[in-house]
Amino acid sequence: MRVFIGVGSNIADPENQVHSAQQALMTLPMTRFVVCSSMYKSPPMGPQDQPDYINAVTELETLLSPHDLLDCLQKIEQQQGRVKGRHWGERTIDLDLLLYGDELLADARLKVPHLGIAQRAFVLYPLAEIDADIMIPGIGLITNLLAECPRDGLERLISK
Ligand code: AMP
Repeated sequence: MRVFIGVGSNIADPENQVHSAQQALMTLPMTRFVVCSSMYKSPPMGPQDQPDYINAVTELETLLSPHDLLDCLQKIEQQQGRVKGRHWGERTIDLDLLLYGDELLADARLKVPHLGIAQRAFVLYPLAEIDADIMIPGIGLITNLLAECPRDGLERLISK
């Protein structure tokens, strides 16, 4: 299954946190790494008294079920010392299952496509960098979503 993972961090050396999470994604069982977007810098959503975020999107090809994949993502978050703080507050690492093929999933643990995907510049722009023609299931073509989504201060970082 073709899947996309959103990765974000805004404390404890965010670029390094995102990089480490991507390295961990490359070693998931029953999963092949496909590509990472560039890294992007974005102003925080929610509380403004926190540092800017570093975000990126990673594409994988996996045989893991959605819930097994979520377990893996949460394990990586724990390994990188994620602690639950305030809502929309600062975090060492955040991994979101953005898309799982063209499936629509909604249960107590998992909503796919990830909620908010259609409005968030820091998700849409890196995703479009990987596949400019992708269809977000149940929502629409990314080109149409981008047309309605200002960059909101999102900045693509030049890779080192
Ligand atoms: P967050 O604070 O953004 O890391 O949210 C974590 C919570 O979101 C967990 O309890 C997950 O079960 C839930 N969740 C629902 N849908 C998703 C998704 N598509 N990707 C990651 N977490 C999800």
